[in-house]
Amino acid sequence: MLKNQCSTEKTSHAYLFCGSRGTGKTTAAKILAKAVNCLSLKDGNPCGVCDNCILVDSGAATDINEIDAASNNSVDNIRDLRDEVVYSPAALKKRVYIIDEVHMLSASAFNALLKTLEEPPENVAFILATTELNKIPSTILSRCQRFEFRRIDSDIIKSRIEFVAKEEGINLQKEAAELIARLADGGMRDALSMLESCAGGLTDETVDLAFVQDRLGVSGADSAITLLENIAEKNVGSCLKIISAIHLSAKDLNSFLGDLLKLVRDILVLSRTGDKNLISTFLSDEETDRLSDLSKSFKTEELLYFSAVLEDTYFRLGRYSSNKRFEIEMAVIKLCDPSLDNSSSALAARISALENAKVSTPIIFEKVKIEQQAAAEEEEEDVVEQATEEAEPKKSETKQPKRKRLPDIKEFLEKLKKEPQLYAFAEVSNLQFTENGLTIICEPFVANMLKQKTSLIKLEDALKELCGEGFTVTISDKKEAVEEKSSLDDLKIY
Ligand SMILES: [Zn+2]
Repeated sequence: MLKNQCSTEKTSHAYLFCGSRGTGKTTAAKILAKAVNCLSLKDGNPCGVCDNCILVDSGAATDINEIDAASNNSVDNIRDLRDEVVYSPAALKKRVYIIDEVHMLSASAFNALLKTLEEPPENVAFILATTELNKIPSTILSRCQRFEFRRIDSDIIKSRIEFVAKEEGINLQKEAAELIARLADGGMRDALSMLESCAGGLTDETVDLAFVQDRLGVSGADSAITLLENIAEKNVGSCLKIISAIHLSAKDLNSFLGDLLKLVRDILVLSRTGDKNLISTFLSDEETDRLSDLSKSFKTEELLYFSAVLEDTYFRLGRYSSNKRFEIEMAVIKLCDPSLDNSSSALAARISALENAKVSTPIIFEKVKIEQQAAAEEEEEDVVEQATEEAEPKKSETKQPKRKRLPDIKEFLEKLKKEPQLYAFAEVSNLQFTENGLTIICEPFVANMLKQKTSLIKLEDALKELCGEGFTVTISDKKEAVEEKSSLDDLKIY
């Protein structure tokens, strides 16, 4: 569009270039300023050889003014400009004012500028550039032709910095270029300055991935992935060791937390779509495989809980925290054990984990129960009483178990603390100790979980530790009439 306008000499008197930093707004503004003054345009581009182009290139053209609104934002600056624009250009065809960071102008400066834009003198063009479109008054917007500068695709940035590196004789490896392109987040200028800082001081060394990570202070994804793997295994000790190692290596914990958040997002995307192209973090093939393994071991609810905790920690690191390491450690402990958190996302994560672990079906349980009953009947036939027998505890009323005493509910809960899931369930249920053992009256979906063989054995073990052999654990539904629903629905009912 700009080229067409230049070649047909139908340029506007005011342009607004907006977009994120490093996407070429000021560069485009300078080219446009040159093009509107060029004497022999080539397809709308400045020729670079005519008198005007040479004058602009030499930097001596007084008709092209670059103003930085960040430091010249007062109304007086704009008034000076207004007094100046009435004069015709000194040497070129048009006076061009490039106002950078125009959103920094004060309200009265904007008003003064508006006057000029309303009645523009002949032979004057304004090119305004901004990163924050929302701060430009609508009266200004409506008088400018607006062009939006998009973020540059990371592939384009990559090939450009590879080109620059080659021209500059820098041995830049492919992975290193990819990492820089990703970190630049669509800004070419950022990518080029990162390349410069990586290559600075090098003689003929290779710029490889590790070098870039080290130089730019970004920890590799490796430690973040290892941390997530340990969280998946609920291995708090190893998690804390990883954080300690990162802390000691003087890598920035904020950026590590950022990496962790991005990875959680990537795992979430991977588990929902299975599409490896949507991964935003820079990963090697091996790391991508590890990530896709991780996507299978976490449920969506868990990942959403992770991102909530990490997001919260990220916020606290920036605002309040004086001890970043401590904050991250607390977050990781929370991630390893959602039972420590009472938020609804933590509950959803816990339920999801339970649903995931629900391997043994009720049919198997029934089978175990039948076997237990059969064993009990056999025993009853036996004349000799064997109260101390290791056999399964049973509901048989005829036998008096050798108990020490009836335990306290608090003591029992204390015993269960090493099994966080069971502890959580027991805590919300009604526990009653009877002659024969323990009755747990609970919600239907909790009953389903507790009735699983693995849970029952753990409960009975805890009971055995407290009061000796021969006690039984009975699970009963609080509302047997309530039909079984998904556990999340149950949660809402209570
Ligand atoms: Zn020219």
